[in-house]
Amino acid sequence: MAVTSSSMLLRNFCTAGRIVQSVRVNSRIFSTGELIRVLPRIGSPRSICSTLAAHNEEAAAKAAAAVADTGAPTIFDKIIAKEIPSDIVYEDENVLAFRDINPQAPVHVLVIPKSRDGLTMLRKAEPKHVEVLGQLLHASKIVAEKEGILGSFRVVINNGAEACQSVYHLHLHVLGGRQMKWPPG
Ligand code: AMP
Repeated sequence: MAVTSSSMLLRNFCTAGRIVQSVRVNSRIFSTGELIRVLPRIGSPRSICSTLAAHNEEAAAKAAAAVADTGAPTIFDKIIAKEIPSDIVYEDENVLAFRDINPQAPVHVLVIPKSRDGLTMLRKAEPKHVEVLGQLLHASKIVAEKEGILGSFRVVINNGAEACQSVYHLHLHVLGGRQMKWPPG
């Protein structure tokens, strides 16, 4: 399928100051959500979220909303299976930590459970997940230590579209290496 360039699409997204609800590409109308799915070069919904956030946070949330919690496998399954490369910072039996492909700070590492076990998002946490939730937090501390940011770092979990979650496999963002702002955007 021939498509317009990602930069052109991003420009289209951004110039109006709001996200467009549909875009015509080669005589076919795509919803913004579908565009995100069919255009790998456009970047992750998260990166779109970040790009658009500067223009309109509400629009950014809508971009993230295009990715639903379907329970389908995610890109993180391929990273866990080592089918696609990642820059691994820490790994043990239960947890994998690797650098975010679109870093928002000098240190930006994602910490994920190797077995998703229904944890597409924090909202799905149940008593059976308490152990792995603790392991994820502990691994975040190990990552901070390994990355030399133990003195100051931030751990973030985006839960749901309005929080800009784009990958439905629970993950903790470990961020550091610069002065953080509060409240977050
Ligand atoms: P969230 O928006 O909270 O769901 O975070 C998902 C994160 O996954 C984003 O910060 C993306 O940059 C990151 N991400 C997506 N694909 C990859 C990848 N292949 N390798 C590393 N990080 C990725």
